Parts: sequence; structure tokens; C-alpha cells
Amino acid sequence: MPRGVQKEAVLAVLSAADVIAYLKIEGRERRGELRTRTCPACGTWGRDAIAINLTTGQWKDHAHGCKGDLLDAIAAAAGLDLRHNFGRVLEIAAVIAGVTADTDPAELARMRAERARLAEQRAAAEKRARMAAIRRAAWIWRRADRWSDRGAEYLAGRGLEPAELARRRLVKFGRDGDPLVALYSSRGQVINVVCRRIAPADDGNKISGLRDAPSLGTLGRSVDQVEPGRLVVIAEGVADTLAASLTWPGAVVLGAHGAGNMPAIGEVLAKRARRPLGEVRIVPHHDKPTASAPQGVGRQAAERTRAELLEGDVPGVELLELEHKDLADAYRAGWRAA
Ligand SMILES: [Zn+2]
Repeated sequence: MPRGVQKEAVLAVLSAADVIAYLKIEGRERRGELRTRTCPACGTWGRDAIAINLTTGQWKDHAHGCKGDLLDAIAAAAGLDLRHNFGRVLEIAAVIAGVTADTDPAELARMRAERARLAEQRAAAEKRARMAAIRRAAWIWRRADRWSDRGAEYLAGRGLEPAELARRRLVKFGRDGDPLVALYSSRGQVINVVCRRIAPADDGNKISGLRDAPSLGTLGRSVDQVEPGRLVVIAEGVADTLAASLTWPGAVVLGAHGAGNMPAIGEVLAKRARRPLGEVRIVPHHDKPTASAPQGVGRQAAERTRAELLEGDVPGVELLELEHKDLADAYRAGWRAA
């Protein structure tokens, strides 16, 4: 039993990969994270809702709200309370990291340097993959079809107006006519292309972006298109972005690729958009309540987005209250802005 190990020494060399192996957590690596069904705190579930950052060791169970760092993971898996059993948790961490009380300081320094080197290598590889994916996104968007009868029929069936959306370059079409929407950086560069699959893929996903491309950005339009006095609408997802663009044709619609990215859009808008900002309208999804989001994930994301804007002294921020699940459903059912 390694007694008297130094906390700093253990934390300096404890790696996410070692903890994952020790806890026998299986999953698939994606964008620097391990996506897995196994939450260190609450067990194994039916879907990959848990993400462990392989560089920082921070992890989160998106379905149940459990989260923490590597020591939290070790404590939770061992059924220990980190605050009351810190010494015991550190001992287990020391075993995982291969550190003992008499580990030679030179050996520790070497382990630390090795870990830093691996983290750097991983970061460089991720960056290369991201840059390549961004170039691919720009190419795909440029080359995508401006029209597809099959895609248009699909959009029309959902109550969206394909001719108008295509004319305004808000939607293009991929092979098989799948509608495509561009994701933009705040400076208007295409950084991802998000596809709404008419027939869901093998993994069951209806919406998918390009592998390794960023998900943080804006669907529809970009922050640099925001002009003083012009209405800005922040929406969630492809369907609501398109429905918002039809509902408010004169607005700059900024769509979040997933609720999790919405607050960051509020933050970027507050910091980078030309002032004075006009009215900002946020369109939340009405999702079912969960343990970590009693108001529902969409509503919570919208509230956080509003908080970011208010913190950035943006006046005139309004949350749209709808009876429907989302704006696309409301639009399809005939709802129109007053
Ligand atoms: Zn959990």
C-alpha cells in the first residue's frame, strides 16, 4: 500500500487512459473524448451518454448529470465519498498512476514529461483532423446541389418552404437529396455541414455533422452578419433554424448545433457582434424534464443563453413562448409570428 504519497505527484501523472483501463470502461474514442455507456457514478446504460475527456480527465454523464474529474471517477467507482475518504481515493489513484511514496523524483519528472508529450501529441493530432474537416466542409458546401426534388418534397412535407430556403442558400442538398445546412464560424467561414437524413443512418441518427469538424458555430447565418438594429433569432437545431428563417425573413437566424452549444452563441454574440444590437429572440425546444434539467434541456439552454446576453449588456432579449414542442412543429401547424 503506497503510504504517504504526494497528492501533487499522483495528480501530475494520473492519466485518463489509465483510469479508464483500471475501471474497465469501454467505449469509442471521438474528438479527444471517450464516449461510453458506463458512468463511473451511476453504472452502465443503454446509450453512449457519457463523455470522458482524454486530455483533462473531466467527465460528464449527459443523461443523468453526474460529472467530475479523475479522482471523482475513482471515488465514485469505489463507492467512496471523495471529501471524507480523500486519503483512500488518493491511494487508489497512486496505484493506478504507478506512484509510490519512494518513487524517485527524477522518475516522476520523467513520467510527467511523458504525459505532457502525449497530451501535446493528442492535441496536435486533433487540431490537424479539425483543420482537415473544416476544409472538407467548405468543399462539400460549395459543391452541394442547390436543388433536389426528393429533398424538397421532404422539406415541404415538414411544412418548410424548400424553394424559399434554397433561394436564400439556407439549405442545399447532398447525395440522395438529404437537406444540408452550413455551420458557420463567427466570421462567416463554413466550418461544418450538418445533414438531415431523410432515412436515418444505421446508427439511428437523423442529424449528423462531419466527423472531426467543430459543432460550435451557427447554423443558417453567422455572427458577423448581425447589424445594428436588425432582429437576431437564436434557435436550436436544423429544423428550427429553417423554420425561424421563414418566420422572420428579415432576421439574422443563428442556429445552435445542439442545445449544449446555444449559450456559447449568446456569449459570442454579446462579445463580437456590432453594436447596438437590435432585439434578440431565443427560441427554446420544449424537452421533457430530466434530473439535471428540471425545466428540460432546451429550456435550460435558452435560459443560459439569455443570461450570457444579459451579462454582456445586451438589452431586449426575449424567450419565445410556444405551445408546441419546437418552432418547426408550430410553423408546420400554421403558427405565424404576430
Ligand atoms: Zn451517471
